[in-house]
Amino acid sequence: MSASAPVLVPASASDLVRLHAAARFAADRHADQRRKDPRRLPYINHLIEVAQLLAEAVGDSDVQLVMAGYLHDSIEDVGVTYEELQGTFGVDVADLVLEVTDDKSLSREVRKQRQIEHAATISRRGQWLKQADKISNVRSILESPPADWTVERRLDYVVWAGRVVAAMPEPHPYLQGKFEALHARALAAS
Ligand code: ZN
Repeated sequence: MSASAPVLVPASASDLVRLHAAARFAADRHADQRRKDPRRLPYINHLIEVAQLLAEAVGDSDVQLVMAGYLHDSIEDVGVTYEELQGTFGVDVADLVLEVTDDKSLSREVRKQRQIEHAATISRRGQWLKQADKISNVRSILESPPADWTVERRLDYVVWAGRVVAAMPEPHPYLQGKFEALHARALAAS
């Protein structure tokens, strides 16, 4: 992985500029990462989808949350630090990303159980970010599942994602509608 030039975002920058700085930062850092679907789509496609879902849910009222949509996997997947996110995009965005970051030193099974417990305690905006992430992931599994995943493994993921979202005390109604429709379709298709 090559070192990337820092993205500098002046505090005075407009929302539109800050949003695009987050998008560019994400595209840069995730440039070598691919989704697990058969086409191996660039990982940024997932990040754009999550950011778009959040923009649809909160409109112009919460640009930080949409920025966090772009950045939500950057600590977990590509080794960006909390400090770098805080220094570049501010404490609010960095905190949102941290809230949805798994501890990768734990086994997959433990992490999955932790996510269910964690979903009940994170901030409302953190719940919405996680909801948008699960929508994107369940949609991918429904429409273009990883080639090496058995039907059982797909079903296992979809059921687990449903448990994570069901544990949220304050899900966003718009995202909830999207999630429930996809979840039902994915269960029926399994
Ligand atoms: Zn994600």
